[in-house]
Parts: sequence; C-alpha cells; structure tokens
Amino acid sequence: MFQTSYIELSQSALEENYKFLKSVVGEQTLISTVIKGNAYGHGIVDLVPMAIKAGQTHFSVFSADEARLCREVAPNAEIMIMGMLDNEELEWAITNNIQFYIFEVNRLEEALKIAKKLNQLAQIHLELETGMNRTGLRKKEVLKVIELLNQNENYILKGICTHFAGAESIGNYVRIQEQIKSFKKQRKQLAKEGLIAECYHTASSAATLSYPKTQMDMVRIGILNYGFWPSTETFIHYVKDKSDRTDPLRRILSWKSKVMSTKTVETGEFIGYGTTYMARENMKIATVPVGYSHGYSRSLSNQGRVLVNGERVSVVGIVNMNMMVLDITDIPDTKKGDEVVLIGNQGDYSISVSSFSELSDQLNYELLTRLPHNIPRKVIK
Ligand SMILES: *Cc1c(COP(=O)(O)O)cnc(C)c1O
Repeated sequence: MFQTSYIELSQSALEENYKFLKSVVGEQTLISTVIKGNAYGHGIVDLVPMAIKAGQTHFSVFSADEARLCREVAPNAEIMIMGMLDNEELEWAITNNIQFYIFEVNRLEEALKIAKKLNQLAQIHLELETGMNRTGLRKKEVLKVIELLNQNENYILKGICTHFAGAESIGNYVRIQEQIKSFKKQRKQLAKEGLIAECYHTASSAATLSYPKTQMDMVRIGILNYGFWPSTETFIHYVKDKSDRTDPLRRILSWKSKVMSTKTVETGEFIGYGTTYMARENMKIATVPVGYSHGYSRSLSNQGRVLVNGERVSVVGIVNMNMMVLDITDIPDTKKGDEVVLIGNQGDYSISVSSFSELSDQLNYELLTRLPHNIPRKVIK
C-alpha cells in the first residue's frame, strides 16, 4: 500500500439511505444527490458511479470543476451547478448539457448570447432571493430576467429554486416560514408572466425532513445520502413521533490504516512532542501513519479513540503532521500491520464521525470534506 490509509465506501449503505429518502419524499419527488465538496469528502469519482448503480440520475455540484469531474464518470446524468461558473466556462457548460443556476443578470445575458451563437439551449434554474441573502435574484433583477427570457428562445427553464437559511435549527423557524411564503408568492408572480419551470426545488436534507411542504418536485440531498443527520435536532424531530426510534441511516464511509510499529515506554517518560502525556505505568504504544496532514485533526491529541484488534484505544500525546501514537498497553499482542479503524466498525465497536467531530469541535460536514482527495477509495458491498 503506497498510501498510509484508505477509505472504504459501502454500496449497500448508500442504497439503504436512498431507500429511506424515497420513503420520505415519495415517488413524485426527484432526489438530486449533492456532491459538492468532493462528495462530502467521499470522492466524486467513486461516489457518483455508486449512486448511478443505485438508480440516481441527478447530481448537484457547487462549481464547474466538480461538474466536469462528475460528467467524466456520468455521461448521461443530469448535472446542476448551484454556485460558481465563470462566464468563460458557459460555452463548455452549455455544450456538455450542464444545468446551472442564474442568480445574477450578467450570467443570464452571457448564457443567452452563447446559446444563440451555438444554436443550443442553456438549461437554467432561476434562484430566487427569499431571505438567505447569499445568492439569489432580488425583485428588480427578476424583472430584468423576465424581460430577457421573453426576448430570447435559446433556453430551457429547468428550474425555479431557492435555499433556506438553516433549516436544521428550530431557532430559524420564523425565518424559514417567511422564506417559504416569499417563494410561493414569487413563484405565482413568475407564472403570471408565463415563466413556468419544469421543476421547483427548495429543500436540502434538513428542510426535506423538518418542513415537508418544501419538498416540491425535487429535493437536493447532501448529508443524508452519506448517512449523517444535518443536526441532532433534525434527528430528534424525525424520530420523536415514530414507534421505532432506530437510526434509519447508514454511514457509507470507513477510514482505515494500520499499525506502523510498536514499542514500549517506561513509567514517567513523556510520549511524543512536549509534555502533554506522561506514562503512568510501563506502557506499550503503537504508531499509526496518519496525522493532521491527512485530515486527522490535531485537536484530537490526547482525545481521539480508534479501534485496534476489536478494542477501543486512545490516542496519546499530540497528533503529529503524519502520525499519531496509540496506547495499546491492554492489547499487547498488537503488531505491525494490524488494522486500525479511524472511522467505522471493527468487532463490536464503532467510531463515528460525529463522536469524532464533537471531540474536535468540527461539524460532520467540515470533518468529512477535509478528508484529503488523495486517500485511495475502495468500494465495498
Ligand atoms: C449544500 C447544499 C444542499 C445540500 O445540503 P445538505 O444539508 O447536505 O442536504 C442543498 N442546496 C444547496 C444550495 C446547497 O448549497
């Protein structure tokens, strides 16, 4: 193994998550798999073929580079850019059947010009401002968009959409309600102007579960696909009225390495850099070739837990750039080459990203997306 660790992706876990999602949204609503942030760290080029195998046909990305990667492995899928697309890349997007958001007039003007020149159709989604105040067309811009669309023909109005400002927290309840109202109103106004989209979509994972009426024609699902809840609150909201309160989601990703070497340390000696850990007894330790440069946070120093030979063991001392040290005093037969599970299951135990991210103060989203692109991914059953 040239790499110091690897990531396993479970096809059956992904399929179960889709099954759950379909039971939530029903047959009429399309699920778009959000694969921004390198598919939440899982890896676009590995995850997308898995999703296609599971029957998925629609993918949402943030930017043109992600769309290009996705197109390479998914020649027939629908791909939608929700964020960054340079005007210079519009021609590429239009010729490669890539759909994209319109949240400013300039992008639309350019897209229509290029589509006309190519004699093709720009596949657009109008993103309306409803209160998130990030991207989204404000009223005045919407008027200009209506004018442009009425004067041009080289487009398909694929979608009309918006995004909610934090549906995973009840603290944002009133703001979300206002957004829903605003979207409905604008949708009606646009319809009066003759602008009717193929697909209306507003919901991410949290909104899909906590505000079911936001599901409409399509939901843009990120974190749930990967087996994580947007927040504990969303999970509680979901299970509170259920008789069966087991988590219906399954984690797709496991992260594994192996013991690089073992040695002994005597009572009173410090382990690793500095003096954060002193051996209180004669100890046996193991080094693992994964450190903060590989995405194992330095804040897990003296905090992290990993699995070795079916036991949970502690990270001792500071997490280094390329390695960490484990206390294997209780499992002294551990030897070089033994599997180390950083995230995932071994024997009766499991290390979840969420326990991990509570310890290191990172959200699931952040920890996952920081997993380096160059860790090899293996798809398993
Ligand atoms: C990230 C994102 C999503 C998906 O969010 P999840 O919480 O992971 O489901 C949906 N829509 C937009 C516009 C996004 O940026």
